[in-house]
Amino acid sequence: MDTKGLQEKVKNFIDERDWRKLQTTKDQAISASVEANELLELFQWETGKNLDDKILNGKDPLLFKKIKNETADVFFSCLAIADQAGFDMEEAFLSKLEELEKRYDKHKVKGDSSKIPSGE
Ligand SMILES: [Mg+2]
Repeated sequence: MDTKGLQEKVKNFIDERDWRKLQTTKDQAISASVEANELLELFQWETGKNLDDKILNGKDPLLFKKIKNETADVFFSCLAIADQAGFDMEEAFLSKLEELEKRYDKHKVKGDSSKIPSGE
């Protein structure tokens, strides 16, 4: 299923529960931020090396499952924002990716994250 299909599924999920009247774009944006923080909380007291060992090497399947679930929650909220605000997430994402490819020329920034400004 492509992103358009996923966005349609989120739209249907909201409409089937008649929640559209209860949620604004602001509410969805708040949900995206809350869910992103739930994801971040899973990393709170872990060092990078511990996480690599636990996640990448499959030593903590419960943590891996939680990370997957919270990441999906963030994505759901992003798709709900797109639905509520009336834009196509796939188009928005591809447009953003194109902008990033121009801003961060792969030949100039390869292997160097020091040229990536924070907050963008
Ligand atoms: Mg969550």
